[in-house]
Amino acid sequence: MTEPVDEDPILQFRDVTAYRNNTKVMDQFSMTIGRMDHTAIVGPNGSGKSTFIQLLTHQLHPVAPENNAPAPIQVFGRDHWDVTKLRKRIGIISTELEYGIMHNLSYGRLSGLDVAITGFFSSMQLFRHHDISDEMKQTALKKLDLMRASHLKDRMFNRMSAGEARRVLIARALVTSPEVLVLDEPTTALDLVARKTCLQLISDVARQGTTVIIVTHHLEEVLPEIQNVILLENGRAVFSGPKKEVLTSENLSSVYNHPLELFYRNGTPRIELDHS
Ligand code: ADP
Repeated sequence: MTEPVDEDPILQFRDVTAYRNNTKVMDQFSMTIGRMDHTAIVGPNGSGKSTFIQLLTHQLHPVAPENNAPAPIQVFGRDHWDVTKLRKRIGIISTELEYGIMHNLSYGRLSGLDVAITGFFSSMQLFRHHDISDEMKQTALKKLDLMRASHLKDRMFNRMSAGEARRVLIARALVTSPEVLVLDEPTTALDLVARKTCLQLISDVARQGTTVIIVTHHLEEVLPEIQNVILLENGRAVFSGPKKEVLTSENLSSVYNHPLELFYRNGTPRIELDHS
């Protein structure tokens, strides 16, 4: 197996088709994301955003290609990965993860610092066999600080507001200094101020050298740092390319099947429903 070279794209999907319960949920979806190509994958409900995350986390597998064609999904230029190693290079933050950690709290008490440390073990709980070094603790504290969450290090995870929990989870994803951060609707359930803070912190991460991929239906999550957008509809990438070319009133109205007016405020796209 050849070692990955730096020029390899981070993620490459080639005609990815996938099924859930005999329903085609991804249909010949192709995209390439290179290093520092901050990207948003945008689409209405049911367009395939969760399917994309599940393909990335190996919860779902694409249809195998015919005739020895290249694997449909390549990550860092390779189609086979030890998932534990891959998790250290790609941080994924989803509501599923948040629920998972919350659920695990019934078995043990996790502080903000503990949750950040679980990132080293790609686990949702700390176990006796986890060998936690001082260096790990220091790194976790540093990442909490980066997320302006140092004050949460001793607070129980289930005593945090949604905004605080989200920041701790981003710190958790950053402890292994991943090259890529994938965020699934990162501001869902956050209030206005928490949303603004969270987006600002993700912008900082993007500017500091981590490739950010945001999967969302909230256009305000398409940060100014994001240059590329993929618009999904029915499991297909119907428009993809530079943000200003893809996010247009016309394209969005087509994908959302409703007249929409797009405008930008401080570099962030917003939409208004056309009620006429
Ligand atoms: P999104 O995250 O953009 O809302 P999803 O990836 O969840 O979209 O869904 C994509 C498509 O897959 C939708 O048409 C949805 O109805 C279908 N789907 C989702 N889960 C299942 C399932 N378990 N079985 C069959 N179809 C599913």
